[in-house]
Amino acid sequence: MVELRDVSKRYGEVVALREVSMGIDHGELVGIVGPSGSGKSTMLNMIGTLDRPSAGTVRIAGHDVLSLTDRQLSALRANVIGFVFQQFHLAAGVPALDNVADGLLYSGPSLGERRRRAYEALERVGLGHRLGHRPHEMSGGERQRVAIARAVVGGPRLLLADEPTGNLDSRSGAGVMELLRELHAAGTTVVIITHDRDLAAALPRQVEMLDGQVVPEARGDRVPEARGDRVPEARGDRVPDGPRGLPDGVRT
Ligand code: ADP
Ligand code: MG
Repeated sequence: MVELRDVSKRYGEVVALREVSMGIDHGELVGIVGPSGSGKSTMLNMIGTLDRPSAGTVRIAGHDVLSLTDRQLSALRANVIGFVFQQFHLAAGVPALDNVADGLLYSGPSLGERRRRAYEALERVGLGHRLGHRPHEMSGGERQRVAIARAVVGGPRLLLADEPTGNLDSRSGAGVMELLRELHAAGTTVVIITHDRDLAAALPRQVEMLDGQVVPEARGDRVPEARGDRVPEARGDRVPDGPRGLPDGVRT
């Protein structure tokens, strides 16, 4: 579903991502964790094709992002990817039903059809009774549910969430996580950025970031070979001199 290869991203002097390589399979539920400034949002922007890498390759659902035109990128985002943000990003003063229906503007069904599908999406997130409520008339948890309904109303295969519980109390946050799990169980690939370690620990896979790089994952089948794991064999009378070729951390 997602393949980053040697992806770097610079903002002027700042290197936000440093030759990151990683993949996410169809149907995974992945947490991206790490301290503030470690590059999590930049990584999500790369995966969501919201921004282009300075170097390296990004493939989403089989498409090489750098080879797509802006129009093709918009189509990819509209048809394949859904976004959820910490700040909800709902339109102020607009009823929940239309906030969600507007998630279908790009794909172009009629207003009636957009509203019908928006209603279904709101039912799915447990807000079928809040159709006419405007954002300021809802709790944070409800607003984030509306935002999730809008993200999934077009049936995206990939759902990206950047600190979706960051502005919520723990109970509303747990409700939002439960909803994201349900969407995952229904077949959506879900990627969640969080700085909440407990929340991340409950997910089947965690990608940890530090200083713009992915910390190697300690996950059975994905453990990378340690650099210099194989100690060169001493031939004849030659003995390896010094620590070169020994596993990291081994002192001689
Ligand atoms: P995180 O989401 O883990 O907190 P970010 O991906 O937002 O980290 O940021 C990584 C680094 O890149 C930070 O040092 C941040 O200041 C910098 N950065 C992010 N976006 C921009 C931008 N648009 N312009 C300049 N620097 C940026
Ligand atoms: Mg961030």
